[in-house]
Amino acid sequence: MKIAVYPGSFDPVTRGHIDILERTSQMFDKVVVAVVHNVTKHALFTLDERKEMIKKSTKHLDNIEVECFSGLLADYLRQKEATIIIRGLRSMVDFEYESQMSMINRQLIPQADTVFIMSDPRYIFVSSSGVKEAALLGGDVSSMVPPLVEKGLQEKIKQIKI
Ligand code: ADP
Repeated sequence: MKIAVYPGSFDPVTRGHIDILERTSQMFDKVVVAVVHNVTKHALFTLDERKEMIKKSTKHLDNIEVECFSGLLADYLRQKEATIIIRGLRSMVDFEYESQMSMINRQLIPQADTVFIMSDPRYIFVSSSGVKEAALLGGDVSSMVPPLVEKGLQEKIKQIKI
């Protein structure tokens, strides 16, 4: 059984992430989305909120699992018996960082490989941080995130402005 892990902050999940999941769910028996607690990034959504939004946006895919995790990705892969790390690529900037991370992970867990998936051209400019900034300033982000995420963003913005 080929199990892949797709780690990321997903704060919040975008149509770019969903597209990667739709494509990789066809390639592997199971894809585990690992919602990472990132100490260096201040998150807008809680880990549980992010997890729920991914779960609901991937209901149409039957081999996706969503979990929260903190710690070393290599340990998590061993725990999940996964041998593939999925990462999306949008630009050379992504590539520089991602290639370095993949080499570090290769040292830490040689039996696993990172598989890079090029972003769909429709979503190449879409990032969680860009979506948050645009939404906070009142921009229409409906083409970049699933409808339930758009709703979640509106609710967060209301709370922030109170
Ligand atoms: P991280 O904080 O780990 O970068 P993100 O949630 O920003 O987490 O992204 C998770 C993964 O999804 C990364 O590999 C990132 O490059 C990829 N990704 C993000 N946005 C897109 C997009 N629009 N198209 C394709 N891949 C994307």
